[in-house]
Amino acid sequence: MTLRLHNTLTGRKEDFEPLEAGHVRMYTCGPTVWNYAHVGNLRAFLFYDLVRRHLRVSGYRVTHVMNLTDIDDRILDQAMHARTTIEEYVKPYAQAFFEDMAALRAERAEHYPRATEHIPEMVDMISSLIEHEYAYIADGDVYFRIDSFPRYGELSHLDRAGLKAGVRVATDKYEKESVSDFALWKRSHPEDEEIGASWDAPFGKGRPGWHIECSAMSKRYLGDTLDIHAGGIDLMFPHHENEIAQSEAANHKTFARVWLHSEHLSDATGEKMSKSAGGFTTLRDLVAAGHDPLAVRMFLIANAHYRSRVRLSPEALHAAAEQVRRLREFAERLDRTTPAGEDDHALARRTAEVRAGYRDALDDDLNLPQGVGLVFDHLREANAALDAGRVGPLNKDALRALLSDVDAHLDVIRAEEPGLAEEVERLIAERETARRERDFARADRIREDLKSRGIALEDSKDGVRWRRLRPAERS
Ligand code: AMP
Ligand code: ZN
Repeated sequence: MTLRLHNTLTGRKEDFEPLEAGHVRMYTCGPTVWNYAHVGNLRAFLFYDLVRRHLRVSGYRVTHVMNLTDIDDRILDQAMHARTTIEEYVKPYAQAFFEDMAALRAERAEHYPRATEHIPEMVDMISSLIEHEYAYIADGDVYFRIDSFPRYGELSHLDRAGLKAGVRVATDKYEKESVSDFALWKRSHPEDEEIGASWDAPFGKGRPGWHIECSAMSKRYLGDTLDIHAGGIDLMFPHHENEIAQSEAANHKTFARVWLHSEHLSDATGEKMSKSAGGFTTLRDLVAAGHDPLAVRMFLIANAHYRSRVRLSPEALHAAAEQVRRLREFAERLDRTTPAGEDDHALARRTAEVRAGYRDALDDDLNLPQGVGLVFDHLREANAALDAGRVGPLNKDALRALLSDVDAHLDVIRAEEPGLAEEVERLIAERETARRERDFARADRIREDLKSRGIALEDSKDGVRWRRLRPAERS
């Protein structure tokens, strides 16, 4: 099967083929670093990671750009209140974003451009839009004239009758009711200078609006036409609609060939999680409540298809933690297994089918939950075969290959604390020595230490084994 992706532009799943053979240019809207990212934002970012990983699994080289919005209305307000510059204000949040992404094992993008570092590119694009009358100056601000762009609204399937030509909105984010000319550039106020949020431009001192940064920075790093542009569903209108208008008006080329939008994460009450609405949960909150970031990762990417809504709950996070534990336990069990003399042919056939089914599920618009479901069903069968000593050398290799296929997307199986397995084995040996020397206090201390790290020791006929504790067993 070839890779098929659901393109918001056409509303259909389409065969995916990049413009340049073997190389995918992908732009994804990143965080506005006015605060910590909430788990809803992280869902979108891990969705980008899933797209990226599957493209790589499919053999493509990927150039992935994710911007950091380090200037917008909210950042300005916050910096003003905190009596600091916008640069100082966003620093800890930008750093927290990278820490969260690392904790969640998102692969790094090739470029993380920041808006404030690309003002000249934005000024150039705005100048060209003014020159060709797609944009106009009003009271020192610059607006995009949506009336000049007949395709405006095609992505979100807007009813153009609702467009209010000539009506202007200056805010960065607005609701659907006000489909109006949007700001490309906002003139400076004296306070903006003090907080480092004012730049010179031929059309007057000011700062960029939110939308222009993505058009200017994607052009700088990826050229006029992107293979894939992704974002959360709430960005489809007006943000992405505005990006298309700016880029296509300025470049006279198709801006993005495939648009991917991920659905919302809702909070416990079923409302879309949002920073402005108040009740939001960050990765830090979840970790403080005892959740493993890898369980959060598993929950965010594998619990539901990216185009379905999901609701955050402790139960769902515990279920994801249990899935991570089962995968790892199986991987470790397999590693320890000495293969039987002969392979089990039925098991070999099923493992091959599950590998193919997993791949097909991912190729079908990145249906990771379905793929993971197939794998868990198969683990039951494989565990039974291990119990019965029916796993031969080829069976073992095929099962390992299946786990490695799955971990190419999930990245939770081998994502150990580095060196953990060796350390645990060393501590087990130390405990054995202590027991032989009848230093039982020391032996118990080692067992308790490991337990506090979520690892249980069990005596078996082949010596001491270790396993991970289930969340319910950790207390
Ligand atoms: P922002 O930092 O507000 O610019 O948003 C960053 C990303 O998070 C965007 O792709 C948004 O679409 C996405 N996003 C915001 N809220 C949610 C949510 N509750 N669930 C899923 N994605 C979201
Ligand atoms: Zn954007």
